[in-house]
Amino acid sequence: MKKQYKRIFILTGAGISAESGLSTFRDSDGLWNNHKVEDVATLEAFEKNPAFVHKFYNELKPEILNAKPNPAHLCLAKLQEKYKGKVNIITQNVDILHEKASSKNIYHIHGKIDEAMCLECGHILQSAEDVDMSTICPHCATKGKFKPNIVFFGEMPLYMPEVEKHLRECDLFVSVGTSGVVYPAAGFVYTAKYYGADTIEFNLTTTSNNYLFDEHIEGKCSITLPEFVEQLLETQENNGE
Ligand SMILES: [Zn+2]
Repeated sequence: MKKQYKRIFILTGAGISAESGLSTFRDSDGLWNNHKVEDVATLEAFEKNPAFVHKFYNELKPEILNAKPNPAHLCLAKLQEKYKGKVNIITQNVDILHEKASSKNIYHIHGKIDEAMCLECGHILQSAEDVDMSTICPHCATKGKFKPNIVFFGEMPLYMPEVEKHLRECDLFVSVGTSGVVYPAAGFVYTAKYYGADTIEFNLTTTSNNYLFDEHIEGKCSITLPEFVEQLLETQENNGE
């Protein structure tokens, strides 16, 4: 892929955070920290027992917020800083490792662990502290109406209009550490390819929609991705940009 791109769209998933020691949300065995996904990550579960669901996310928070970005996160921040083209990051991860790596233009399509949304007024509360049924909304003063700002199963991912726009406009689509089985993210490559983007995938193993990518690079993304970023930056330099 030796060309200068104008707009790069990078989709990151659980695989990039796994290398920072975070266990993966939406894992193939259907468990997350020994809880069944249907007990902690569906609207039904939250409506039935909001206190339990809050407790689950409150317990996860410290581990997730204390994790450190790895070379894959860091090289993407470097690419955003040094590359002349636009580089947008869309992540399926609820952690803040891209933020910690100093990336910008990050869309958290599955929400964010340090946010909660007031179901009364829509206010988004950003907090590293516990949020529970006693939390009072600083905007509308209602008590106990916060929901973790995590996209549960069956809910629409966030920022889809922006994502669609970036998919149509990008000339390079990069998928990092995603399984390629969770829709709609698994379908992003179709759209990007349809609108003419080059497509490349970084993953530990072969994925099911592997054939849709022009290039497939297997291995730890903390090793393969920095190499790729260096190639992009070298190409830019050789082109005298
Ligand atoms: Zn409110």
